[in-house]
Amino acid sequence: MQCPRCTHAMISDSFTDLLDDSGVLGITAWRCLTCGEVVDPVILANRTNRPEPFVSKSRKNWGA
Ligand SMILES: [Zn+2]
Repeated sequence: MQCPRCTHAMISDSFTDLLDDSGVLGITAWRCLTCGEVVDPVILANRTNRPEPFVSKSRKNWGA
């Protein structure tokens, strides 16, 4: 796999996380050997399926 940040090689690595709702304690994710970027399936899904911003709730540009 190629790092989305620096395009160098990534390796599969195991990470320990807090116990989530499904009872999973550890995850396996991709870690970049060069910049340390970590990408797991949840991160990838959130990056590709992120919702559009709410225009009405966004910060207004006050011309400052
Ligand atoms: Zn990288």
